Amino acid sequence: MIRAALLLAFAMQSSTGNEFAVLRDQWAHNLHDKQVEASVAQYAPDADFLDPSGNVTHGSAALRRLFQTVTATFDSNLVFLDHRVESSGGLAYDSGTYKETLVTRATGQKQELRGTYLTVYQRGPDGRWLIAEQMWSSAQPDTNTKAPSPSADSIVEPHPVIALTFDDLPAAGSLPPGMNRTQIATKLAAELNANHLDGTYGLVNAVKLENDPDAQQALHIWVDAGMNIGSHTWSHPSLNVSTVESFQDEIAKNEPALKEYAQGRDWHWFRYPFLWEGDTLEKRHAIRAYLSEHGYRIAQVTLDFEDYAWNDAYGRCLAKRDDAAIDWLRQSYLDTAKEYIALGRAEERIAFGREIPNVILLHGTAFTTLMLPDLIDLLHKEGFTFASLPEVESDPAYTMDPDAPLKYGGTLPDQFMDSRHLKYPPFQPKPFDKLKTLCQ
Ligand SMILES: [Zn+2]
Repeated sequence: MIRAALLLAFAMQSSTGNEFAVLRDQWAHNLHDKQVEASVAQYAPDADFLDPSGNVTHGSAALRRLFQTVTATFDSNLVFLDHRVESSGGLAYDSGTYKETLVTRATGQKQELRGTYLTVYQRGPDGRWLIAEQMWSSAQPDTNTKAPSPSADSIVEPHPVIALTFDDLPAAGSLPPGMNRTQIATKLAAELNANHLDGTYGLVNAVKLENDPDAQQALHIWVDAGMNIGSHTWSHPSLNVSTVESFQDEIAKNEPALKEYAQGRDWHWFRYPFLWEGDTLEKRHAIRAYLSEHGYRIAQVTLDFEDYAWNDAYGRCLAKRDDAAIDWLRQSYLDTAKEYIALGRAEERIAFGREIPNVILLHGTAFTTLMLPDLIDLLHKEGFTFASLPEVESDPAYTMDPDAPLKYGGTLPDQFMDSRHLKYPPFQPKPFDKLKTLCQ
C-alpha cells in the first residue's frame, strides 16, 4: 500500500514536472519575443515579482509596466538550467537556476547573468496554473561592466541625482512690467544660495550683454553669488540653418565675455541652442570636434519640460492682476514638470538600462523666480539629491554619443530614443494652447 502510494506520487510529480517545464519555457519565450500580455497572463492578478535588487512588483498593472520597460530596454535570451518541481493540491513550486544574455537595445551593451529563481504557482479558477509569487536572485554579471539586472532598478531609482542648469542668461524671456534682469538674477541666486546650490551653471548668450547695463549687472550678480557660467553661443542661432563655420564663430565670439565675467572659474561648458546638435552628421561631427579641440564639454540635458513657455502668459496675467490665472500657471507648471521628469527618467531606463544622474534644463525667466522654490520642493519630494553639472556628467553615460543626424535633437535620452527608434512611454502633452491664449 505504501509502495503503491509512493509510485502514484512519483507518477503525479513527473506529469506535473512536464506541465511546469512547458510553463517555464513559455515564460522565457514570452520575454524573448516581447509578448508582454502573454507574460502578464502567466501571473495571478495579485502576484508578486521579487527582483534581485529588493524591489517587489505587485499586481497585473505593475507587472505589465515592468514587462513593458524590460522588453523595451533589453533583448533577453534566458535559459532555465536545473530545476526542481513539487506540487500539493492547488499549490506548486518550481525552483532552480538560470542564465541570461541581456543586450541593452539602445547601446548594444551585452551582459551575461546567472542566478536562481523560485516560482510559486497556484491553480486559478479555471484550473490553470498561475504564478502567485516569483523571486529572482542574480550573481554578479560575468562581464566586468557594472550594469543592472533585467528587472532590477528598472521601475524607479530610489536616490536620483540632479543638477539644475539655467539657459539664456542674462536675459531669458520677456520682462513683465516693472521687473528687470537684475531683480531676476538676484532672486534666482538667493534661492539657489538658500538651497546650498552654489556652483549652479547658467549658459550665456553674450549678445544680451551689449549696451544693457541691467543685463550686465544681472550676470555679475549671478557670478558674485557663487554661480558658474558656460556658453550657449553668442546669439542663440539654430545649427540647422547655420553653416559649420558661422556656428563656430558664434562659439568663439562668446568667449571674451565668458572670460571677463567668470572670475577665473571654468566656463568651458557648452549647451546647444534649442538642444539641436546638427541635422547632418557632417555638422554634428564638425561642431563636436571643434568643442573638444577648444576644451569644452557638452552640457547635456536629461530632463526638460520647456519651462520657458509659461513666462509670457505670466507677464500678461500679472499686468491684468489675474490671480486665478496665475494660480493655474503655477499648478500647470508643477504638474508638467512632474510629468516630464518622470518621462525623462523612464526614457533613461529604456535608453541606458538604468537611470543616470540628471541635468534639468531651466531658464532664468521672471516666472522661474516665482516657481523655483516650489520646483526645488518638488524635486526633494521626488527623492532627488542635488549635484553639480561636472559631478553629474562624470557618469559614463555622458560619454556616449547617439551619433545620428537629428533635426530636433532634444535631451540625451530623447536622442537615443529617436535615433534608435525606441518607443516612448505614454505621456501628457504640455498645455501650450492654453498658455498662448491665457490673459490675452
Ligand atoms: Zn536657449
